[in-house]
Amino acid sequence: MSASPVLVVGSVAFDTLHLPSGSHPKVLGGSATFASLAASHFAPVRLVGVVGRDWPGRATRMLGDHRVDTSGLEVDACGDTFHWEGKYASDLSSRETLATDLNVFADFSPKIPAAFRRSRWVMLGNIHPALQLEVLGQMEESGLVVADTMNFWIRGELPALKKTLRRVDLLVLNDEEARELSGEHNLVRAARALMRMGPRIVIVKKGEHGALLFEGPNVFSAPAYPTTEVMDPTGAGDTFAGGLIGYIAGRGNSRHETLRSAVIFGSTLASFCVEGVGTSRLQSVTHGQIARRVGRFQKIVRFGPDAKPR
Ligand code: AMP
Repeated sequence: MSASPVLVVGSVAFDTLHLPSGSHPKVLGGSATFASLAASHFAPVRLVGVVGRDWPGRATRMLGDHRVDTSGLEVDACGDTFHWEGKYASDLSSRETLATDLNVFADFSPKIPAAFRRSRWVMLGNIHPALQLEVLGQMEESGLVVADTMNFWIRGELPALKKTLRRVDLLVLNDEEARELSGEHNLVRAARALMRMGPRIVIVKKGEHGALLFEGPNVFSAPAYPTTEVMDPTGAGDTFAGGLIGYIAGRGNSRHETLRSAVIFGSTLASFCVEGVGTSRLQSVTHGQIARRVGRFQKIVRFGPDAKPR
């Protein structure tokens, strides 16, 4: 049986990246692009976003080749595609934003095509929480709603974010954001506080230290896949979320065991993403490579049934 599609809404961008390896002007980026390519390894994807007059047809074709339906990708001929420019520290541990040219993204008001309004799996990328809510308002039917957010919205748009969170099933955010949004330093307490805001599942990403999954009383702790091949960390978070919901869609359920595996698949996709510049590695990675890395991951996290205190 084929998997039912994942709806992904978010930014589609050109990124100019200044990496220790050199500068890369205007490579394909954006939260929805990374999430869509990651999810597409497990299920068909329906992408909703906006691009400008500079958007090349080959990018649309590339997405189509990865079974991403781009009929919800609006082309606004009145301006250019959203452009983000960032400079990474020499050890890639931090980055500075040099430019955020919103261009056509400034007036983005997601329009969900009629054919997409019944989507069992919905991924709300990192956009204004009011826009995330607008998307949900257009849905005639949805199953699991996954949302990503960031400090910018937590600080500047808290009432709107809280309203959106009441409609979200699974919230993905990083440790810093979890602490800020919940007001709790301890991540277990933070996750419980976030669950009281709406989502029944919370995933806290800890960058190179992995991720924590909370659902009811259940907690799952996954390490990040240890890789030495980090070239460009851009989009790793979006890739994690896309891989996660894609895997859930591929399995066709969001049972707790599925969620645990989804965290591992999301982390695996993120570990591939950082190996290339922009979306390049996500475009080239094969099912076989993903499966082999998940196999190695299983060995890394294996914990003996014979483990006893004495
Ligand atoms: P991440 O590395 O996961 O934070 O995601 C990086 C991606 O987010 C880049 O491809 C950017 O194009 C995109 N991005 C940067 N700033 C914004 C913004 N303000 N709104 C939406 N997407 C953004």
